[in-house]
Amino acid sequence: MTKYVYDFTEGDKDQKDLLGGKGANLAEMTKLGLPVPPGFTITTEACREYLAHGSAPGELRVQVTMALRQLEDHLGRRLGDRHDPLLVSVRSGAAFSMPGMMETVLNIGLNDASVKGLAEESGDDRFAWDSYRRLIQMFGKTVLEIPGEVFSDALDKAKSAKGVASDVDLDVDDLQALVTVFKDAVRQHCGQDFPQHPREQLDMAIDAVFDSWNTDRARLYRRRERIPQHLGTAVNICTMVFGNLGSSSGTGVAFTRDPATGRTGAYGDYLANAQGEDVVAGIRNTLSLDDLKELDPKSHKQLLKVMRRLETHYRDLCDIEFTIERGTLWMLQTRVGKRTAAAAFRIASTLVDENLITMDEALSRVSGSQLALLMFPQFDRSAPRDLLTKGMAASPGAAVGRAVFDSATAKAWADRGEHVVLVRRETNPDDLEGMIAANGILTARGGKTSHAAVVARGMGKTCVCGAEELDVDNTSRTARIGSIVINEGDEISIDGSTGEIFLGAMPVVPSPVETYLESGVEAALVGADDETAGLVRAVDRLLTHADARRRLAVRANADTAADAARARSLGAQGIGLCRTEHMFLGDRRVLIERVILAGSAAERDEALAALLTLQREDFTELLDTMDGLPVTIRLLDPPLHEFLPDRTELAVKVALAEARGDSGPELDADRKLLAAVERLHESNPMLGLRGVRLGLLTPGLFALQVRALSEAACHQLLAGKDPRFEIMVPLVGSVMELHLVRDEAERILADVAAANGVSLSAPIGTMIELPRAALTAHRIADAADFFSFGTNDLTQTTWGFSRDDVESTVFAAYLEKGVFTISPFETIDADGVGRLVEIAAHEGRTTKPHIKLGVCGEHGGDPESIHFFHRTGLDYVSCSPFRLPVARLEAGRAAITARSASSA
Ligand code: PEP
Ligand code: MG
Repeated sequence: MTKYVYDFTEGDKDQKDLLGGKGANLAEMTKLGLPVPPGFTITTEACREYLAHGSAPGELRVQVTMALRQLEDHLGRRLGDRHDPLLVSVRSGAAFSMPGMMETVLNIGLNDASVKGLAEESGDDRFAWDSYRRLIQMFGKTVLEIPGEVFSDALDKAKSAKGVASDVDLDVDDLQALVTVFKDAVRQHCGQDFPQHPREQLDMAIDAVFDSWNTDRARLYRRRERIPQHLGTAVNICTMVFGNLGSSSGTGVAFTRDPATGRTGAYGDYLANAQGEDVVAGIRNTLSLDDLKELDPKSHKQLLKVMRRLETHYRDLCDIEFTIERGTLWMLQTRVGKRTAAAAFRIASTLVDENLITMDEALSRVSGSQLALLMFPQFDRSAPRDLLTKGMAASPGAAVGRAVFDSATAKAWADRGEHVVLVRRETNPDDLEGMIAANGILTARGGKTSHAAVVARGMGKTCVCGAEELDVDNTSRTARIGSIVINEGDEISIDGSTGEIFLGAMPVVPSPVETYLESGVEAALVGADDETAGLVRAVDRLLTHADARRRLAVRANADTAADAARARSLGAQGIGLCRTEHMFLGDRRVLIERVILAGSAAERDEALAALLTLQREDFTELLDTMDGLPVTIRLLDPPLHEFLPDRTELAVKVALAEARGDSGPELDADRKLLAAVERLHESNPMLGLRGVRLGLLTPGLFALQVRALSEAACHQLLAGKDPRFEIMVPLVGSVMELHLVRDEAERILADVAAANGVSLSAPIGTMIELPRAALTAHRIADAADFFSFGTNDLTQTTWGFSRDDVESTVFAAYLEKGVFTISPFETIDADGVGRLVEIAAHEGRTTKPHIKLGVCGEHGGDPESIHFFHRTGLDYVSCSPFRLPVARLEAGRAAITARSASSA
């Protein structure tokens, strides 16, 4: 018999897959002896069964009955009893946190009879009726799918009729009247009464939580966060404790450290006399933990003790949800908390100083994508500024965009290429699409733990929240600050690191982390405040550790001396790919055109001679910049048509000239050119005359490049330098192709060396970017000193996807349909393309055990792919200069992960 239900006393924190994050951590806290209200968890497996069959397994209902009876016996109360009712909450909780995406229903067990029992037992009529109206409201919206406004509008109406602003100012009579209005609304929308039977309420709520796994917004969130769609959610049934029992009660959320900056010290938001989601919904502005200390020193002290215990136990920043019921503290949730990129680095480094984790663990707690976020520019502090107001710095970054006031507009404007800032009074989970589309998010209400803040931090998106002076009016699509009005479409700038909001577009400057990466710690510390200095030092510490740990070397893809210089300052240990075609595009394109179209050997030699000088200069400069480090020069690769004039344009030009009756040498030349272009035209140029094929079919072309390179190297040698070049042949499919190029290259190297009286040698290798090359790597290795995996072309040719077209035509639908969760051009398709890399690496090493293996496709800078290349045993990755720091960090993390996996 499958066990679908676990008591909180049964599980632990490592059972997230089965019990969801919330359930696993509730069990862990119970095990630690922390004050958790008793309850039980329904497994994710039950949810998967429910979703597959459209109904809960029969056995689940039985197991819920058993768990419920045990709970009732333990507490001496019955669910929904008319005298002393046990009430429970029903809360979702998947293996991965999905803040605000799924459902919660509180106060299950209340009905027309038990509300009176609750009133009597608590001695507080107002509390009992407030709890009942909350149940109908939440149940109505979540379980019965009645639009939320039906209830919130009625609540607003009740408040305005009474002339009060806050829910807490409604008295028993008002709440009783509201309950009647709510029940009428339920009858009107559903054609039946609000269910009075407690167990029926419970079962319906459980099913609703299961269903909430598949709402559009939850699916969208998972796609974005790359959470598999099939996992399902667990459901936690927990004894209710009440934060709405008057002023000595309340509810809050807290972090053991500041999740925005990583600063040490507890941080939290508290609302007295409130329940459940009131805190994160940003409905009323919250109090700080210091305020709580004033209000209730005993609970505050106990809370801090619990938080310290949790942090010591989890050895990481924890976030918690708690409730104080008449002076008694209850823990409702904990988890390792989300944090900004800056906080991640600072916390990891601080925890090492506190001897809670090792440097290896610290490195595993930060990621390349977090580092990439820290490299984004910031607002220029010296620029003139038009400060409108300040909110809370909820998620860092500098966002500039046009103000929009709803999610749909944010999406529509962003789709047409506008930068937008989504301005809301407060956000709710339905705003997710707009939040994704916007450059930044600005809210008037809510603290650092509000929905907007939590979700923005999770997405790495700039967010300022709780800007109280901001009066947001959705109807007129304006936001006012005193007499200043921001209209929809006005440009604003928000600073998620300071909370500042500016009118107009502020200029941006490099971030201190970027300055550190390019120019070192000292340069980044000039004028830095403590926070910035702490961040720079933490990044430096962790990146240095990654460099010490990694096995993969990190090279750059760079075509110019300027790129190479930048790459070198960012830690490149060589150039893994110099695409020489970039040296021939632009003005120099016609020179190649002349080589390709030459009518005679003499004409071609003349054109080649003109190129030789230019190439030699390019290579000399590059070798000089990278002196002492390997530089892989790839011989010409791109498809032929990139060097020839556009066929249509040329045809039109000739046709117009003929129509005008023109004649003369220009028209003759154009006609000749057009005939050649027509002759060389290809249907699939990416699969045509490119790479080694172009080299073998165009006499002298590769020879020119090898000669230029050899002469540049001689020049450097004679100048006392240390040039280390490698010659790389593109698009090889057969070892014969490589032999032909290699033989010629070796001859030229020897000639040039002899002519200059130096000894010259260079590794000659190939790209592995065609499936045939990968599958015959054991033979290709005979003629190659190294392999560099061209995973861009290898992905294109393995999938049969045209890399220039398919992302705009096919990928959106494929991502939507779940064919893949990320583009295979971004992250290596380990099962297919990756398999070819594994085969080629293995076969290559079988023939030549010390053959050097690298990768120079875009995947060389992608975190997940870097871990794959580490596992596959490659020697280096090569990527764009700006991705080098990310690659260094991830290569270090990959080494640590592999080590801990092998020692486990
Ligand atoms: C590749 O194909 O992965 C590669 C690096 O070469 P290019 O992108 O220039 O085709
Ligand atoms: Mg390629």
